[in-house]
Amino acid sequence: MSTTHTPPSVRLRALVDTVQRNERTLRRFQDVELQLIRAQDFQSLCRVLFDYLPREFGLERVTLWLNDTLPLLHEMALRSCASPLKTAREMGEAAVRLCVQGRPWLGAPAALDEAAGAALFDGEPDHARPASIALLPLAANGQVSGYLCFASDNESRFAAGMATDMLERFAVIAAASLDNVAHREQLERLGATDALTGLPNRRYFDERLREETTRASRYRLPLGCLFIDIDSFKPINDAHGHAVGDRALALVGACLRKQTRLGDTIARYGGEEFAVLLQGDLKDSLVVAERMRAAVAQLELRGDGGGRIPLTVSIGVSAHAMRPDADLDGLGRTLVDEADRAMYKAKSEGRNRVATLAA
Ligand code: GH3
Ligand code: MG
Ligand code: MG
Repeated sequence: MSTTHTPPSVRLRALVDTVQRNERTLRRFQDVELQLIRAQDFQSLCRVLFDYLPREFGLERVTLWLNDTLPLLHEMALRSCASPLKTAREMGEAAVRLCVQGRPWLGAPAALDEAAGAALFDGEPDHARPASIALLPLAANGQVSGYLCFASDNESRFAAGMATDMLERFAVIAAASLDNVAHREQLERLGATDALTGLPNRRYFDERLREETTRASRYRLPLGCLFIDIDSFKPINDAHGHAVGDRALALVGACLRKQTRLGDTIARYGGEEFAVLLQGDLKDSLVVAERMRAAVAQLELRGDGGGRIPLTVSIGVSAHAMRPDADLDGLGRTLVDEADRAMYKAKSEGRNRVATLAA
């Protein structure tokens, strides 16, 4: 039956249906856009893109390719480990080729050439690929910051020739939101990072202490703290100059950082002092402390004359079991205070050692 024989009432009904469907889609897009704009950090943005968006739109998945050659995005991509986040150069190159003049590409993965298919689907076998995709360039301030890939298991969902105005509008907002969180994160990083060692500063440590005591108390977990002070540092400055002293600080900071595990917090707490928060009890914390002490003693710091300058640290260790009914601020302060006092104990016992207030 051709459309010319369809009664006007039915045609009108179909038209109204289409308008209403479009309106619903638009509203859903606006909802997601609002969430994107509200995202305060990259993690929240990822949650909107990877969890909320596919759920709202019945998509099989959403992936984000980030142009990590942009310095602002590089750090952010490094620290994120969400799997729908991609940075492979090949994928970016394939997307550039497909999205001619910065326009979205819609179609079936089967229509892609072999190189583009392999790059976009990370070597996934053909049968595991979605039935159709929309690839949206994200451009902000005149440069492409990334591509979003919407994947559907319905092959007619995204097809060449479809209207893309809603998708393009969405991409503009996604790109602006990405730019926004990247800047926020950078500020955050710069504001709380110590320039000499690249480690977080005391402000960040205090913030984390609050978060960690809360988290540990919720799950009744123990929390450990290390206070680390470089031994006889003033004589190093005096004998070799401040620049060598600075180098020593950076070297020790990097060495300590290498010894921390994922989820632990390390900060430059003050002049030649570092503090660490560990997810573990006293026994775990003593093991980490001893590993750090030994690693610093192995460092090869050379003075301007080429001679080796010995570096050692004294480490104070404390740990507490956290309970939900505890005074968390008080417990956090006690944890840090005890580690600090234990550090002085290590100094008085001869330096280059680990001590705890418990016998
Ligand atoms: P101890 O073994 O008892 O800890 O002795 P110490 O000499 O390490 O301790 P003291 O507190 O007497 O000296 C700390 C020195 O650290 C003094 C200060 O000039 C130096 N210092 C603090 N911050 C920096 C920095 O950013 N760069 C350099 N080069 N030195 C610093
Ligand atoms: Mg000191
Ligand atoms: Mg010292």
